[in-house]
Amino acid sequence: MATGFEQIRTFRYFVKKKIINNGNEKVIFMDHVDLRHLDQQICTCHLCPLSEGRKRAVPGSGPAPTDIMLVGEAPGKEEDLTGEPFVGRAGRLLDAALVQAGLERSKVFITSVIKCRPPQNRKPKKAEIDQCRPYLQAQIEFLHPKIICLMGNTATQAVLGRQGVTILRGQILQDRFLVTYHPAAVLRNRNLMNDFVSDLKRLNTWEL
Ligand code: SF4
Repeated sequence: MATGFEQIRTFRYFVKKKIINNGNEKVIFMDHVDLRHLDQQICTCHLCPLSEGRKRAVPGSGPAPTDIMLVGEAPGKEEDLTGEPFVGRAGRLLDAALVQAGLERSKVFITSVIKCRPPQNRKPKKAEIDQCRPYLQAQIEFLHPKIICLMGNTATQAVLGRQGVTILRGQILQDRFLVTYHPAAVLRNRNLMNDFVSDLKRLNTWEL
């Protein structure tokens, strides 16, 4: 399986293929699609069964282009209601951690691997991640972030094909990816907060 930059280089093929497979969608080559159209595609996407239970898809938000991108796992209840990323309890913790790290939320692009809420906030299935991953790859291509923070095992596995956040956290991988905890994990275990903030500070001091 292709990982990291290899996947990003080949995203156009995957996105084009999926749109054709969907049958009802107009065939669009990603080279001719801007970020707003990509958001529209995400919000009307029915490529996987998660579309059936969602109220709103959550493409992500932030500046475009951006220097820093944060990638989580999937929307929760409040994100599903609002269409905005990280606005629930984990989002408020992320906001606090960003402030402590000296980062402004308005200056980072925040999104998730999966754009629609899984039922009861369960972990996304591999097939759902495989269906949704090309949207993240397209966002990375369009937004040109200099550094991408992968928050939690789902994001790390989906982008780099690796697991083990407790071992990988704080490391810069492939000169572009920083792995750290998911804010929900920090919410469950506040002892992780200092390490989480310390990792986010690395984004702030990365050569942008
Ligand atoms: S989770 Fe992703 S692939 Fe599945 S319906 Fe939503 S946008 Fe489409």
